[in-house]
Amino acid sequence: MRSPADLTAAFRAQGLKITPQRQLLFRLLDGNDQHPSAEALFHQAADEMPGISLRTVYQTLNDLADMGELRQVSVGCGPSRFDPNTSDHHHVICDRCGTVRDVYVSGADNLAIEGLDGFAAVTPSIVFHGECTVCARPEPNNNHSPKEH
Ligand SMILES: [Zn+2]
Ligand SMILES: [Zn+2]
Repeated sequence: MRSPADLTAAFRAQGLKITPQRQLLFRLLDGNDQHPSAEALFHQAADEMPGISLRTVYQTLNDLADMGELRQVSVGCGPSRFDPNTSDHHHVICDRCGTVRDVYVSGADNLAIEGLDGFAAVTPSIVFHGECTVCARPEPNNNHSPKEH
């Protein structure tokens, strides 16, 4: 994703409205490696700007995804996550708390695939499942809950 200033210019160039709500979302997403869902981002934004609507969050995320500034990541359970890191990478998710991290997989573009049956331009999107460092910690210190994300 480009910087908030560049995105503001890009939105204007496309004739899209720039509002303080959208600029707040640009700022919250800038360098964000938490892979937030739309709802998680909405709650974070509402802390700073109580009037913001979930609809505005979805609209802005969709516009950014359409412009190629944001990747929508399906992690196999729960809602889609949004990722301003558009570089070539994959994900690992904690099955207990839903934390998602970026991982880099060598050889992902050279996997042997059978059964493509004519599908072209196939892009791998790999999601590894496991437990994050907090959830893998032995009891009783383990009280990580999804709300922390
Ligand atoms: Zn976890
Ligand atoms: Zn990512």
